[in-house]
Amino acid sequence: MTKFEALGLDKPLLDAISDLGFESPSEVQEKSIPILLDQETDLVALAQTGTGKTAAFGFPMIQKIQSESRTTQGLILSPTRELCLQITNELKLYSKYVKGLNVVAIYGGASITEQARQIKRGAQIVVATPGRMKDMIGRNMVDISKIDYCVLDEADEMLNMGFYEDIKDILSNTPQEKFTWLFSATMPKEVATIAKKFMHKPVEITVGTVNAGASTVQHEYYVVGGRDRYAALKRLADANPGIFSVVFCRTKRDTQRVAEKLIEDGYNAGALHGDLSQNQRDLVMNSFRKKQVQMLVATDVAARGIDVDDVTHVINYQLPDEIETYTHRSGRTGRAGKSGISMVIVTRSETRKIKAIENKIKQEFIKKNIPDGMEICEIQLYHLANKIKDTKVNQEIDSYLPAINDVLDGIDREELIKKIFSVEFTQFYNYYSKTKDLNSSEGGKDKGEGKGSKEDIPSEGSVRYFINVGERDGYDWMSLKDFLRDTLNVEKEDIFNVDTKDSFSFFNSDAHLAEFILQTFTEFKLEGRFINVEISTKPGGGGGGKGGKKRSGRKGGGRRGGNSSYKGGNKGGGRGGNKGGYGKKGGKKRSGFY
Ligand code: AMP
Repeated sequence: MTKFEALGLDKPLLDAISDLGFESPSEVQEKSIPILLDQETDLVALAQTGTGKTAAFGFPMIQKIQSESRTTQGLILSPTRELCLQITNELKLYSKYVKGLNVVAIYGGASITEQARQIKRGAQIVVATPGRMKDMIGRNMVDISKIDYCVLDEADEMLNMGFYEDIKDILSNTPQEKFTWLFSATMPKEVATIAKKFMHKPVEITVGTVNAGASTVQHEYYVVGGRDRYAALKRLADANPGIFSVVFCRTKRDTQRVAEKLIEDGYNAGALHGDLSQNQRDLVMNSFRKKQVQMLVATDVAARGIDVDDVTHVINYQLPDEIETYTHRSGRTGRAGKSGISMVIVTRSETRKIKAIENKIKQEFIKKNIPDGMEICEIQLYHLANKIKDTKVNQEIDSYLPAINDVLDGIDREELIKKIFSVEFTQFYNYYSKTKDLNSSEGGKDKGEGKGSKEDIPSEGSVRYFINVGERDGYDWMSLKDFLRDTLNVEKEDIFNVDTKDSFSFFNSDAHLAEFILQTFTEFKLEGRFINVEISTKPGGGGGGKGGKKRSGRKGGGRRGGNSSYKGGNKGGGRGGNKGGYGKKGGKKRSGFY
């Protein structure tokens, strides 16, 4: 008897499992499959993506469903289209020997009529995102009034994404006597509330506390000045030439901006966040899977469905609000038995959060220094040497060799090597030989933050700022105020005393917004131009525009000829109403877990 047989699974599933090459059940499967097969019960399971949880609910559901009947009997709700498709594909593989069983995916961004057609043909299991599901119920395109089983997958994430009302509506269209199986990586209050409200005495299981791959992940942190985050990110990428990474930002806008800057600076980067169209997301994910995109800059929500095994580094460009989210992020690397590194870029004041994470994940972080320019040059040189050594010779070159030899005639081996290396290396050297040390000591003042650094920000009262746009750029005080309000996603009253001059302007905010405003306008570009905001040294702000030093062109400059550019749709810094900035409107306040 195989270990899967011992769990109570029937032959069609066992045959599929054998085809898939699964040797033994994972922990979540071992714990939930016997319960779900033997008992008609609700279940709450704490388990992360990558632990095999799709099979944990999928196997029992497939076995229990009557495939002879065309009625929809199982509903699985999942937060994103990516996950929805992933689950559907997995279930199709698992049920390949179950005759007549149809699994249909319904999700936004694709033809609703085509999905309705598939449902009409008979779908015993429907896998859906909440928004599209609700839409289809409203249009009578799907009937879930007779389901026996309902799975809420990644429940915490669905609630994070604001699907509570949709889930409530959807569940109100299902029968009382169904069984609900809830899977969640974390158990915040909101999920506990759902479990209490919609479930009856659920059996609870927990699988580990950390992602399965966690012990293969090394955690590192780097302390830099708040304004050096991006420069630090570039150095980390340059110091790891073979990097294949997910870079996490907190907001969609930061995600877009960081990805755009990386692309402009010649990195193979792409953005993944919820403001992109489905088509754009598919494009970037395909390129990432093919490793054409080496740095995938993503929001937490968009990255949830990523199922790529070879990620070498996770880079926390900014730390998340909740420690659980950090666990999710670092779990994107160190998968499938491989090792991985999770790097965190923090400012001096954020280092206490590192301690809190260490306590929670029971693993120590290694404090590391951002490599200096010369270290990076050295790494790049050796990388190039190895690349040359490992390159397979292209025999097509043979016929051109005599001519090439003619050109290089008289140059000895040593000089030739120097020249070859200089072709690639000089650009790096020229850039890095002029750069500063980015490391901030944990105890001392943050380095490199200059004017407007945290120490200069008043902690109360109002703060006056200089901004390098004015009437010459078409602004009057009202339109500049609108621009600031939209860009910062704050209330109108938060920005006041806007005073436009010819080529620059001034405005005020409450002190508590100062750090956020300065951070937002760090390396901020509008229509290709840097917008510079600094704290005005003159309290009245009236006289002279000297308050702001002019930014001279782009920092860091072009690096190498990047080729994969997936900028996504909206350019960062547009005037349009960006979401996801300062969480004043709509955004629910986090309770602060650190
Ligand atoms: P999940 O957590 O459901 O997203 O599963 C992660 C991956 O693990 C999927 O590619 C599954 O096909 C695979 N998987 C699930 N169960 C097992 C198992 N028992 N043994 C090996 N691989 C598995």
